[in-house]
Amino acid sequence: MVETNLILLGPPGAGKGTQAERLQADFGLAHISTGDMLRAQRAAGTDLGREAEKYMNAGELVPDEVILGMIGLRIAEQDAREGFLLDGFPRNTAQADALSKTLADSGRRLTAALLIDVPDQEVVRRLAGRRVCSKSGHVYHVEFDPPKREGVCDQDGSRLIQRDDDKEETILRRLEVYARQTSPLINYYEQAGLLRRFDGQRDPDEVHDHIRATVATLRLEDEL
Ligand code: ADP
Ligand code: ADP
Repeated sequence: MVETNLILLGPPGAGKGTQAERLQADFGLAHISTGDMLRAQRAAGTDLGREAEKYMNAGELVPDEVILGMIGLRIAEQDAREGFLLDGFPRNTAQADALSKTLADSGRRLTAALLIDVPDQEVVRRLAGRRVCSKSGHVYHVEFDPPKREGVCDQDGSRLIQRDDDKEETILRRLEVYARQTSPLINYYEQAGLLRRFDGQRDPDEVHDHIRATVATLRLEDEL
């Protein structure tokens, strides 16, 4: 079977992680979140984690060489050989170029780039209210998707925390970084004929239904 290799694009807070968790379950794809990988390195106290933390707390991008080294290894792992879902990568055109080269070198290709479109003022509300499970990383929102018991993860009972970079000043900086460095990728993937757009302002189930239907169609087309 042809592998399905997807990118989730969209501003911080668009719902990439929320949708990735669902799509991973639908299609058995490896969910590869560079943000989650960096936070795991930080929690483990590695040199890479310590280096990345400075940039993450400031809302800036971590240097490309750090990210590219991590991604190159990850997409070559066995679970990702059958298809992957990239969440939070690529974030600039240098990363996108490096990805297409890495894939081409191993005879692989991208299936589509899925853009979740959400305006800035909605992003600020979402990020300010985001809470994540300290253990699994499962995502909640205090207003839009609250846990059954305040401050506690429904799935494993762990404590919910607010990410350090989900504070107002850092959120605004991250939005600027998105606009300047990441949003050019919309045009980049449109030119490549790979872009699919989704209205991220709908509720998470509806966004999920739309993306799932599109991905199912792409997979059918690939099999023909
Ligand atoms: P969000 O899901 O809110 O968009 P992420 O979890 O993807 O945030 O990323 C958190 C931070 O990790 C970013 O602000 C950035 O500092 C760093 N980061 C994650 N992915 C990348 C990447 N591909 N390139 C550079 N920095 C990254
Ligand atoms: P990203 O990975 O793009 O940064 P997340 O999936 O972490 O985004 O979502 C950011 C916040 O917005 C979370 O608190 C999440 O619960 C909430 N959220 C996600 N999708 C929606 C949606 N369609 N409508 C309302 N809130 C949402």
